[in-house]
Amino acid sequence: MNNLNPCESVQEKLSAYLDNELTQQEQQRMHVHIKNCPECTALLSELTALQSDVKGTLLEGIESMDSRSLQAIMQDKPARWLSAFGWGLLIIGALLLGGFFVWQFTTELLADNSVPWWVRFGILGFYCGLFLLFLGVLRQRLVARKTDKYKKVNI
Ligand SMILES: [Zn+2]
Repeated sequence: MNNLNPCESVQEKLSAYLDNELTQQEQQRMHVHIKNCPECTALLSELTALQSDVKGTLLEGIESMDSRSLQAIMQDKPARWLSAFGWGLLIIGALLLGGFFVWQFTTELLADNSVPWWVRFGILGFYCGLFLLFLGVLRQRLVARKTDKYKKVNI
């Protein structure tokens, strides 16, 4: 390191210096050198301009969307997947179990001619309602997934 010319060793670490990644001692040494060296000062301001350009572009991109929802997606992704999976299992289980019992119950009732019309109507309503609820949940899941994709692309 010592046989390097001081400017070279400073310029090598300029971006680390800008990012405050050096030890306090190194940071201090860089600071002293740059203050007394026009060449390194010029390079530093060039690098600063470049970095702020990059940061500006990134910030613009992030600010163009709701930063709070970005954070929520970043933080809650595993939770969201777990809950999506849980809901999926719950719905499938409920549909299978419910379907099985309701179907048995229904076929028994429908086979019995003494069952009044409103019970048949109730059974029909129950099935339609269950189906609509299922469609509603399914659609919510799909919309949520589409929104996620859209947001991911924006990042
Ligand atoms: Zn220098």
